[in-house]
Amino acid sequence: MIIGAHVGTSGGIAKSVERGAAMGAEAIQIFTHNPRQWRGIGLDDIAIEDAKKALEDEPTVTSIVTHVTYLVNLASPDPDIYERSRVSLACNLAAATAIAASGAVLHPGSHKGTGFESCTTRIVDGISWAFEHASDSHIVGEQLAYRVRVQGQVSTLLLENTAGAGGTVGRNFDELATLIEMLNANYPANRIRICLDTQHLWASGKDYTSIASADQIIDEFDQAIGLDKLECLHLNDSKVPCGAMRDRHANIGEGMIGQQGLAALLGHPRLSNLTAILEVPGDGHGPNRNQVDIAKQTLAQGIAIRAGLANDGNQQHD
Ligand SMILES: [Zn+2]
Ligand SMILES: [Zn+2]
Repeated sequence: MIIGAHVGTSGGIAKSVERGAAMGAEAIQIFTHNPRQWRGIGLDDIAIEDAKKALEDEPTVTSIVTHVTYLVNLASPDPDIYERSRVSLACNLAAATAIAASGAVLHPGSHKGTGFESCTTRIVDGISWAFEHASDSHIVGEQLAYRVRVQGQVSTLLLENTAGAGGTVGRNFDELATLIEMLNANYPANRIRICLDTQHLWASGKDYTSIASADQIIDEFDQAIGLDKLECLHLNDSKVPCGAMRDRHANIGEGMIGQQGLAALLGHPRLSNLTAILEVPGDGHGPNRNQVDIAKQTLAQGIAIRAGLANDGNQQHD
């Protein structure tokens, strides 16, 4: 497992890569757009070249994931929000593709009380529209403050599970499975994948803090969605108890899941190829070197506990 971190983009994407490297992150997540505004940023060809060069200069940072603008809500019953959302998603996908991101993380949205069944078609149609238009240089509108010429396949889209507050979509594995199945009818399997947030998972009612419960939840994911669809984790402790259905990230080891609880999940052998990205508060400015170090220790602890259990098992057989 690779430990990465969400980092800021002030000064450009190349600076983000440097920030990640300085804190020991092996991957970074960035916003390519202001997360709380519809308008795009001026991501031009030079910034894209800078980003590529920065990755070459900092070989310890192996990949970039982008996070789609928070305002995007393809589940919205409001036609104006929906239209802005699909254009914004197309722009976000274009930017992710331009910088060769390994994926763009999307919150599936909130249906505002109209129910999950009422919004699945809206979400699927919106994503399909965005994929088609991400490589279309004719997307026009006030939202598009830049044009990137996107070549080749548009970036992978990563649907993130939610903590379950209000009408948020993606609160359980079944909802994510439904969306993936509907989307995969239109797209080859690997275009739409999953980003699983450890805090959201916990807040949605999944307690994975023992080896047995972590194993069970990974099995449930595998049966509902398929572990081959899991691209990355968002790695966060939780300020709220299991099942509280609130999205409240805490620093690793300072929350209600705890370092040992996260270790049980992170050490799972079937997660060993994933990237886990910290989205913790740090000391108020987001992930830092201390949190990256603690995350790496937590992972090592999880692997050691499981190796110890395996060894104990062997000794019993001897
Ligand atoms: Zn997250
Ligand atoms: Zn969150």
